[in-house]
Amino acid sequence: LSPEGRGLAAIRTTCAYCGVGCGISATVTGARSVTIAGDPDHPANHGRLCSKGTHLGETVGLEGRLLHPMIGNKRAGWDKALDLVARRFRDTVAQHGPNSVAFYVSGQLLTEDYYVANKLMKGFIGSANIDTNSRLCMSSAVAGHVRAFGEDVVPASYDDLDAADLIVLVGSNTAWCHPIVHQRIRARCEAGAKLVVIDPRRTETAAEANLHLAIRPGSDVALMNGALAWCREAGTLDERFIADHVTAPEDFWDTLSDGHDLWTVARTCDVPASDLKRFYELFAATPRTVTLFSQGINQSLAGTDQVNAILNLHLATGRIGKPGAAPFSITGQPNAMGGREVGGLATTLAAHMDFAAENRALVQRFWSSPTIAEKPGLKAVDLFRAVGEGRIKALWIMATNPAVSMPDAGRVREALAACPFVVVSDVMADIDTGAFAHVRLPATAWGEKDGTVTNSERMISRQRALFPLPGEAKPDWWIVSQVARRMGWKSAFAYDRPADIWREHVRLANYRNVGRRLFALPGQGGGGNAGYEEMAPFRWGGTPFADGRFATPDGRARLVPVAQKPAPAQLTRWPMTLNTGRYRDHWHTMTRTGLAPKLARHRAEPLVEVHADDAVRLGLVDGGLARVATPQGDSVYRVSVGEGQRPGELFVPIHWTDRTSSGGRTGLLPRPLADPISGQPGFKATPASIVAVATR
Ligand code: SF4
Repeated sequence: LSPEGRGLAAIRTTCAYCGVGCGISATVTGARSVTIAGDPDHPANHGRLCSKGTHLGETVGLEGRLLHPMIGNKRAGWDKALDLVARRFRDTVAQHGPNSVAFYVSGQLLTEDYYVANKLMKGFIGSANIDTNSRLCMSSAVAGHVRAFGEDVVPASYDDLDAADLIVLVGSNTAWCHPIVHQRIRARCEAGAKLVVIDPRRTETAAEANLHLAIRPGSDVALMNGALAWCREAGTLDERFIADHVTAPEDFWDTLSDGHDLWTVARTCDVPASDLKRFYELFAATPRTVTLFSQGINQSLAGTDQVNAILNLHLATGRIGKPGAAPFSITGQPNAMGGREVGGLATTLAAHMDFAAENRALVQRFWSSPTIAEKPGLKAVDLFRAVGEGRIKALWIMATNPAVSMPDAGRVREALAACPFVVVSDVMADIDTGAFAHVRLPATAWGEKDGTVTNSERMISRQRALFPLPGEAKPDWWIVSQVARRMGWKSAFAYDRPADIWREHVRLANYRNVGRRLFALPGQGGGGNAGYEEMAPFRWGGTPFADGRFATPDGRARLVPVAQKPAPAQLTRWPMTLNTGRYRDHWHTMTRTGLAPKLARHRAEPLVEVHADDAVRLGLVDGGLARVATPQGDSVYRVSVGEGQRPGELFVPIHWTDRTSSGGRTGLLPRPLADPISGQPGFKATPASIVAVATR
């Protein structure tokens, strides 16, 4: 049925926001109004919703929407706009080669959108210059999984949280950032499980913990290596599991013999040795342990090593592949995982495959494509650097706002301003990045989109349309397909509906479904269009590694030696360390949550959080204004003084932009530096200073 024809029947769909992937039961009540409730049958949330999901109905109006294609500041027809985009990309590739163009896409895209964009760039243009804002969110976890398991598989599900006796949260404020997962954690703890939170900040999550280790930022490798050394010393490694299923370089255990005693690690992490001992004893004594981690681990210049330090600990103690025992990387965005599945990262080819010659041949054969990308493309930070250096001459940005969200956003803006051709397809008319676009294309929003998303635990759910498409807005998969067709590849992009793309995606995922590969979508491609319409949530991969076999050539997981990097020297000019993150009731750059007045009540403006000792020392007053500066830029915030930060550390939110505030522009502050393996930027520890701003 069309959305209009569905009348007041509830439509099952999936939340627009975070990677928890909650099911929603939506009842359309008017032209652009809807009543939102949690879907009681969805396995991710069992009917519960957090504040953001609950207020989705307030965000579906058309105020501020981009409803027509625009060339410069002039309204244009779709034909003219699409022809222009196709011609400029085709001419740029012809003149400067396939690596002179790039797509920067988003974990907000549906899997079908992602699949088509990836196919066009890697199989038809012939470059791997398609990267995603998920690079900023979980790419260190992807790289860590590949190093340890031989493939990118999250070896956990939410059911493991329900079965765990110990839950360790590392760099993860689930109470704010993954609230429905947090409710499950809380329920499990009320039933007797213990909660340990490892986080430099005393967050709302940390306040609930049995033990909070407020470690020095970036000392996670020392902490996890110390736990491994402790378990070895205490005789609590799983020697049987190691002998049967794990391999390590010869000197792996030697690297743990020096400098990993309790006292040295406590000094490195700057926590009491007694607290550290308590954590190590708890971990060693609790086989059913889930270690859940997110941006505090991933958004670091040593993010991949930090991930592998966690994976090493779980592999060596056999805490993997069993109910309630797993390392669990949780995703930030609604479809970060779907992007990983189709290969929408510059570092994967397609369907979880890398750029090995056999994979390239297989994918090219499957797509019947004229070419295929030879090697990984530019990761996000390098991609925008290449734009600034003039190496990327045509850039298409889909459903994301890099002029605010990339580190060193000021430099990103300069790069966009100098780029010969920028296309932005988005929902909002005045999005910051849109100001740099030569062509803006109106895309569909949540409530109009139709397709699939995959959540943190590999569960695939349908996002369904509630309303007719407004104005001339079109789905992202349609826009990309139309450009591809106008570039000359008509039959390869002859999709009529998302179900066509889904079935092709499933066929490719299963095309090489041999050996130990876990990524397969068995049976879900059938059922025709009706089967797609009715698709119920399902999780791929079962219980990964339950048989102890991994996707490496010898079937064994790898222990990866990782060493704690020395703490950076404290610079006189930059005596503070700046951490960035999210507020509970806002999402990214607030293009949607900013539309819901009730969500502004929790935090009405951006605050810089400062420890009370620093406030006294620096003359900062609670409620006063202060300028936060880094080597990249500066911005003014209202000061919040408390005990939540460690002395010497500051915290600011990521959400506010030029459109929404004259201060609190956090994107200008982080350095454009990234983990050398994953390419994920380090947003969590930027050298900074803070001074009070005089007010009258
Ligand atoms: Fe939406 Fe995440 Fe909240 Fe669930 S937890 S309702 S997915 S924002």
